[in-house]
Amino acid sequence: MIIVLKPGCKPKQLESIVKQIEAFGLKAHVSQGTERTVIGAIGDDRGKHELQNLEGISCVERIVPILKPYKLASLEFKKEHSQVKVKGARFGLGSFGVIAGPCSVENEKQIIKTAQSVKASGARMLRGGAYKPRTSPYSFQGMEEEGLKLLAKARKETGLPFVTEVINEESARRAAEYADVLQIGARNVQNFSLLKTVGKTGKPVLLKRGMSTTIQEWLMSAEYILSEGGKDIILCERGIRTFETATRNTLDISAIPVVKELSHLPIVIDPSHATGVKQYVEPLSFAAMAAGADGLIVEVHNDPSKALCDGPQSLDLKEFAAMMVRIKALSKFNKQKL
Ligand code: PEP
Ligand code: MN
Repeated sequence: MIIVLKPGCKPKQLESIVKQIEAFGLKAHVSQGTERTVIGAIGDDRGKHELQNLEGISCVERIVPILKPYKLASLEFKKEHSQVKVKGARFGLGSFGVIAGPCSVENEKQIIKTAQSVKASGARMLRGGAYKPRTSPYSFQGMEEEGLKLLAKARKETGLPFVTEVINEESARRAAEYADVLQIGARNVQNFSLLKTVGKTGKPVLLKRGMSTTIQEWLMSAEYILSEGGKDIILCERGIRTFETATRNTLDISAIPVVKELSHLPIVIDPSHATGVKQYVEPLSFAAMAAGADGLIVEVHNDPSKALCDGPQSLDLKEFAAMMVRIKALSKFNKQKL
């Protein structure tokens, strides 16, 4: 249920309503919008009918049910789109944030050189995997904490915040000590205990869509994170599995307008994992921007031919710089801030 407050409701009154909601055994999630404050009362359906009693309170305007199965992630709850801001990187509400970096951190020279170059080209956040969920147990599994330390060093050198993937509770807790944003990969989008763990850290989360998850399932995963206290989620469409084999996955561009209608959360596109082919990264990035995405996450490597992971889909430093010149031109036309 959503409790919509009248404009001008005092902090003391808000606090008292929150207490009453909690007394019904529900969690109260306060959302302060530009126009008005709403409270999401979330939890076991049994406490729901008692909420109607709150309608008598002077600063409560109305109480309405949230019909969607995802509540806190829904646009129905928030009524306006959200912007996620991490240091200088902004996603949503007219800001288009570009995240770039290698699939995985491999050594100091690689990550520092790549970070410096993508920053100069206009990226606002660095990516780099320290814990890699690989299809084969014999493939490079990531540098783990050593990789997190190198990412932190790259941040210190460049000022770029960084996002890194977590694959289990242990890596989530470890990465939360270093990273600005925790990434949930396609393979873990329905690992509900991991979603709860990252929600509890309170860190911003980049939540990838799974290769076979529907948009509704994906938003339910976002709900797990929000219901545990997570606040800032950036959704990431990275291609879904179809019968097509010419590309690694099939980018679901329609997910952008669909998500915009269903959820207040910003959505970015990962053209690298969507295609698996570097020549397709730029055209799909343009398509994402034109369709209303709030940003991109792109794999960039200082020497893709030597990359330990995802070399064929990685742009080199020059290719990324050239793409960003064209992205900047398109962003002006689209009235989006880079
Ligand atoms: C990645 O970002 O390197 C990654 C493994 O992506 P995904 O989870 O989308 O496959
Ligand atoms: Mn990758």
